[in-house]
Amino acid sequence: MIHVDFESGHLQGDAVLHSERRLEDLVGLFADEAARESMDGKTLAYRVEMHEAEKEGVEGGLFFGTSHVMPGKVGDEYFMTKGHLHAKVHCAEYYWGLSGTGWLLLMDENRNTRYEPVSRGSLHYIPGGIAHRLVNVGEEPLSVGACWPSDAGHDYGSIATDGFSARVLDQGSGPVLIQD
Ligand code: MN
Repeated sequence: MIHVDFESGHLQGDAVLHSERRLEDLVGLFADEAARESMDGKTLAYRVEMHEAEKEGVEGGLFFGTSHVMPGKVGDEYFMTKGHLHAKVHCAEYYWGLSGTGWLLLMDENRNTRYEPVSRGSLHYIPGGIAHRLVNVGEEPLSVGACWPSDAGHDYGSIATDGFSARVLDQGSGPVLIQD
Protein backbone atom coordinates (compact mmCIF):
# COMPACT_ATOMS: atom_id res chain seq x y z
CA MET A 1 0.00 0.00 0.00
CA ILE A 2 1.31 3.43 -0.94
CA HIS A 3 -0.37 6.80 -0.56
CA VAL A 4 0.52 10.16 -2.09
CA ASP A 5 -0.81 13.42 -0.66
CA PHE A 6 -1.57 15.51 -3.75
CA GLU A 7 -1.18 18.76 -1.83
CA SER A 8 2.30 18.18 -0.42
CA GLY A 9 3.55 15.27 -2.50
CA HIS A 10 4.25 13.42 0.75
CA LEU A 11 4.52 9.67 0.22
CA GLN A 12 3.45 7.20 2.86
CA GLY A 13 3.67 3.44 2.86
CA ASP A 14 6.07 0.64 2.08
CA ALA A 15 9.27 1.10 0.11
CA VAL A 16 9.41 4.88 0.58
CA LEU A 17 12.98 6.13 0.73
CA HIS A 18 14.02 9.50 2.14
CA SER A 19 17.20 11.45 1.54
CA GLU A 20 18.25 14.95 2.44
CA ARG A 21 20.99 17.42 1.64
CA ARG A 22 22.17 20.00 4.14
CA LEU A 23 24.48 22.93 3.44
CA GLU A 24 27.40 20.91 4.85
CA ASP A 25 26.77 18.35 2.07
CA LEU A 26 26.96 20.97 -0.67
CA VAL A 27 30.58 22.09 -0.62
CA GLY A 28 31.44 23.91 -3.85
CA LEU A 29 27.89 23.96 -5.20
CA PHE A 30 27.24 27.67 -4.73
CA ALA A 31 29.31 30.47 -6.24
CA ASP A 32 30.01 32.05 -2.86
CA GLU A 33 31.71 29.22 -0.94
CA ALA A 34 32.72 31.58 1.88
CA ALA A 35 29.07 32.51 2.40
CA ARG A 36 28.09 28.83 2.54
CA GLU A 37 30.82 28.12 5.06
CA SER A 38 29.65 30.96 7.29
CA MET A 39 26.13 29.48 7.51
CA ASP A 40 24.93 26.68 9.80
CA GLY A 41 25.95 23.49 8.01
CA LYS A 42 22.93 21.66 9.43
CA THR A 43 20.55 23.94 7.49
CA LEU A 44 18.37 21.76 5.27
CA ALA A 45 18.69 22.67 1.59
CA TYR A 46 16.44 19.98 0.11
CA ARG A 47 15.03 16.54 0.69
CA VAL A 48 13.65 13.84 -1.58
CA GLU A 49 11.08 11.12 -0.98
CA MET A 50 10.70 8.34 -3.50
CA HIS A 51 8.72 5.16 -3.93
CA GLU A 52 11.16 2.42 -4.79
CA ALA A 53 8.85 0.11 -6.74
CA GLU A 54 11.83 -1.50 -8.46
CA LYS A 55 15.47 -1.90 -7.69
CA GLU A 56 17.58 0.87 -9.18
CA GLY A 57 18.67 -0.24 -12.64
CA VAL A 58 15.72 -2.48 -13.50
CA GLU A 59 14.88 -1.88 -17.15
CA GLY A 60 11.37 -0.78 -18.05
CA GLY A 61 10.32 0.16 -14.51
CA LEU A 62 9.47 3.57 -13.09
CA PHE A 63 10.24 5.57 -9.97
CA PHE A 64 7.92 8.14 -8.44
CA GLY A 65 9.02 10.82 -6.02
CA THR A 66 8.77 14.30 -4.58
CA SER A 67 11.57 16.83 -4.09
CA HIS A 68 11.26 19.62 -1.52
CA VAL A 69 13.72 22.51 -1.93
CA MET A 70 13.81 24.87 1.03
CA PRO A 71 13.65 28.67 0.64
CA GLY A 72 16.91 30.48 1.27
CA LYS A 73 20.05 31.85 -0.30
CA VAL A 74 23.78 31.36 -0.08
CA GLY A 75 25.01 34.89 -0.65
CA ASP A 76 22.76 36.07 -3.48
CA GLU A 77 22.20 32.57 -4.92
CA TYR A 78 18.97 30.71 -4.26
CA PHE A 79 18.93 27.26 -2.65
CA MET A 80 18.96 24.58 -5.33
CA THR A 81 19.52 20.89 -5.93
CA LYS A 82 22.87 19.55 -7.11
CA GLY A 83 21.37 18.76 -10.49
CA HIS A 84 22.22 15.81 -12.68
CA LEU A 85 22.12 14.04 -15.98
CA HIS A 86 20.85 10.51 -16.19
CA ALA A 87 23.52 7.80 -16.33
CA LYS A 88 21.53 6.37 -19.25
CA VAL A 89 21.64 9.68 -21.00
CA HIS A 90 18.65 9.10 -23.31
CA CYS A 91 16.24 8.57 -20.38
CA ALA A 92 13.59 11.29 -19.93
CA GLU A 93 11.65 12.40 -16.85
CA TYR A 94 8.47 14.25 -15.90
CA TYR A 95 8.37 16.92 -13.19
CA TRP A 96 5.24 18.71 -11.98
CA GLY A 97 4.83 21.61 -9.60
CA LEU A 98 2.97 20.95 -6.33
CA SER A 99 3.61 24.07 -4.25
CA GLY A 100 5.96 26.99 -3.97
CA THR A 101 7.71 28.92 -6.71
CA GLY A 102 10.77 27.70 -8.55
CA TRP A 103 12.80 27.61 -11.68
CA LEU A 104 13.70 24.36 -13.36
CA LEU A 105 17.14 24.83 -14.94
CA LEU A 106 17.68 22.80 -18.10
CA MET A 107 21.06 22.58 -19.80
CA ASP A 108 21.62 20.89 -23.16
CA GLU A 109 24.71 19.08 -24.42
CA ASN A 110 26.09 22.38 -25.82
CA ARG A 111 25.89 23.88 -22.31
CA ASN A 112 23.03 26.19 -23.20
CA THR A 113 21.00 26.74 -20.02
CA ARG A 114 17.38 27.89 -19.95
CA TYR A 115 14.65 27.66 -17.35
CA GLU A 116 10.98 26.85 -16.98
CA PRO A 117 8.98 28.49 -14.15
CA VAL A 118 7.61 25.92 -11.69
CA SER A 119 4.42 26.44 -9.70
CA ARG A 120 1.43 24.38 -8.66
CA GLY A 121 0.13 22.57 -11.75
CA SER A 122 3.06 23.27 -14.07
CA LEU A 123 4.17 20.19 -15.99
CA HIS A 124 7.73 19.74 -17.25
CA TYR A 125 8.95 17.13 -19.69
CA ILE A 126 12.72 16.75 -19.44
CA PRO A 127 14.01 14.98 -22.56
CA GLY A 128 17.03 12.70 -22.50
CA GLY A 129 20.41 14.41 -22.56
CA ILE A 130 19.23 17.46 -20.61
CA ALA A 131 20.82 18.23 -17.23
CA HIS A 132 18.21 19.37 -14.70
CA ARG A 133 18.25 21.27 -11.42
CA LEU A 134 15.51 22.77 -9.24
CA VAL A 135 15.93 26.25 -7.77
CA ASN A 136 13.61 27.69 -5.11
CA VAL A 137 13.11 31.36 -6.03
CA GLY A 138 10.24 31.88 -3.56
CA GLU A 139 9.78 32.21 0.18
CA GLU A 140 7.98 28.89 0.78
CA PRO A 141 9.28 25.35 0.30
CA LEU A 142 9.22 24.31 -3.35
CA SER A 143 7.68 20.85 -3.78
CA VAL A 144 7.92 19.10 -7.12
CA GLY A 145 6.70 15.65 -8.14
CA ALA A 146 8.73 13.45 -10.48
CA CYS A 147 8.47 10.21 -12.42
CA TRP A 148 11.48 8.67 -14.15
CA PRO A 149 12.71 5.31 -15.49
CA SER A 150 14.15 2.95 -12.91
CA ASP A 151 17.15 2.32 -15.15
CA ALA A 152 17.90 6.02 -15.76
CA GLY A 153 20.40 6.29 -12.93
CA HIS A 154 22.03 9.55 -11.87
CA ASP A 155 25.19 11.15 -13.17
CA TYR A 156 26.22 13.95 -10.81
CA GLY A 157 29.84 13.93 -11.90
CA SER A 158 29.85 16.29 -14.86
CA ILE A 159 27.73 18.82 -12.98
CA ALA A 160 29.99 18.59 -9.93
CA THR A 161 33.01 19.23 -12.17
CA ASP A 162 31.72 21.84 -14.61
CA GLY A 163 28.48 23.06 -13.05
CA PHE A 164 25.67 24.54 -15.08
CA SER A 165 26.56 27.37 -17.47
CA ALA A 166 24.27 29.80 -15.59
CA ARG A 167 23.24 30.56 -12.01
CA VAL A 168 20.04 31.96 -10.53
CA LEU A 169 20.88 35.02 -8.44
CA ASP A 170 18.96 37.74 -6.64
CA GLN A 171 20.81 40.94 -7.33
CA GLY A 172 18.18 43.01 -5.56
CA SER A 173 15.10 42.63 -7.71
CA GLY A 174 14.32 38.92 -7.68
CA PRO A 175 15.67 35.98 -9.64
CA VAL A 176 17.77 36.48 -12.75
CA LEU A 177 19.67 33.93 -14.82
CA ILE A 178 23.31 34.96 -14.91
CA GLN A 179 25.79 33.25 -17.24
CA ASP A 180 28.64 31.83 -15.21
MN1 MN B 1 16.43 13.17 -13.19
